[in-house]
Amino acid sequence: MNLKDYIANVPDFPIPGIQFKDITPLIGDGKAFQHATELFIEFTKEVGADVIVGPDARGFIFGCPVATQLGLGFVPVRKPGKLPREVISYKYDLEYGSNELCLHKGDIKPAAKVLIIDDLLATGGTIEATIALVEQSGAEVVGIAFLVELEDLNGRKKLDAYKVLSLMKY
Ligand code: AMP
Repeated sequence: MNLKDYIANVPDFPIPGIQFKDITPLIGDGKAFQHATELFIEFTKEVGADVIVGPDARGFIFGCPVATQLGLGFVPVRKPGKLPREVISYKYDLEYGSNELCLHKGDIKPAAKVLIIDDLLATGGTIEATIALVEQSGAEVVGIAFLVELEDLNGRKKLDAYKVLSLMKY
């Protein structure tokens, strides 16, 4: 199965100049979504992760099925104002605009081996923020997995110290 057949390229969304990779055809197809999830599960086992972390919002879509299939916990990294208890937070720049991400204090145990899953690696700002929040919690990032990597944007440069899987590269 070629997963690229299930990614729609949308030019100039949400602003002119951005080639938006729409993942909704992939998650809308049962077999393609299952195949992507199985590849993430293999990687999760390979790196020995014991908890899955996913950034708001598409990290939830891909992280949760992996967590439930393996009987692991899932910890959400969320946009400001969404988590009800005390948080730690991190600000960063995006391919378009800027953002801040938050994590509940204490949701990730200091000895945890974390696999981070997100839909797409662009500039790497989102993943850098997520890594920082996990590491501030005292946990170890044992792997990072993406459905899509946009190689031109060089986000991978920020991830030299980590094991990284991307299922598709553009
Ligand atoms: P970045 O922080 O630049 O690596 O951007 C990653 C996040 O922004 C991903 O989690 C995507 O959800 C979203 N994103 C950035 N660029 C694109 C793009 N060209 N197409 C689809 N989503 C994108």
